[in-house]
Amino acid sequence: MGRFEVIALGVGDTFSEVRNTASLLLEYDGFRLAVDCPDRYRGVLQGVSRRMERALPLESIDEFFITHVHGDHMNGLEGVAFYKRFAENKRVRLHTTADVRDVIWDQRLRAPMETLWDGIEHKTLGFNNYFDFAVSPWDDEFDIGPFHMTLRRTKHHVPTAAMLVRVDGQTFGYSSDTAFDPDLIRFLSKASVIVHETNLGPAHTAYSDLLTLPPEIRQRMRLIHYPDLFDPNTSEIPCLTEGDVLTL
Ligand SMILES: [Zn+2]
Repeated sequence: MGRFEVIALGVGDTFSEVRNTASLLLEYDGFRLAVDCPDRYRGVLQGVSRRMERALPLESIDEFFITHVHGDHMNGLEGVAFYKRFAENKRVRLHTTADVRDVIWDQRLRAPMETLWDGIEHKTLGFNNYFDFAVSPWDDEFDIGPFHMTLRRTKHHVPTAAMLVRVDGQTFGYSSDTAFDPDLIRFLSKASVIVHETNLGPAHTAYSDLLTLPPEIRQRMRLIHYPDLFDPNTSEIPCLTEGDVLTL
């Protein structure tokens, strides 16, 4: 049996002056799956690597799952895909829903990535030149490496995937971005560790709503995506900090 670990790479929101934006790294038996890809991703890995005294080179991460197309969750993907192409001569193994796939190239990545100049002429590239894509279905279990994944759509501005990740009889749950949603909490409650977002506004979950949950759920919960104004030290539900490792 391997060890299932979840590493907090970023715990802040898109406005943060002090934190990386929300992202996780799932690890089991040497297999790494990045969940979302914040800006300046190699710097994010380097900072967390120093804090946890474990090497986290981008070369060791080939598989990326993108929960939704908001910049704080995917702005780093352009740089990661360029790095994989130019430095590693590889494509990114990209996992996401059909809803994200429908827009991620044409509406997010195409303008900066479609045309490359080789010193002589401009060449046109497509999504498949950078990404080895596998569609991730909603609601039905599927596998990424050793991980058995189940996605559920959240209540958010754009199609966003929450997930249960099962391996070796252990289950991890992540809300990604969502308004408070008791049905989603029920879905996530199959997990022994639940990482849940909190932030301001109608498309995010108020901390006060999470406090209404039964203690046995709150005990398994860790918060992410909290605003700078939120004080993790006074939170009744523990907050993740960058470099934290959850062992399932
Ligand atoms: Zn979002």
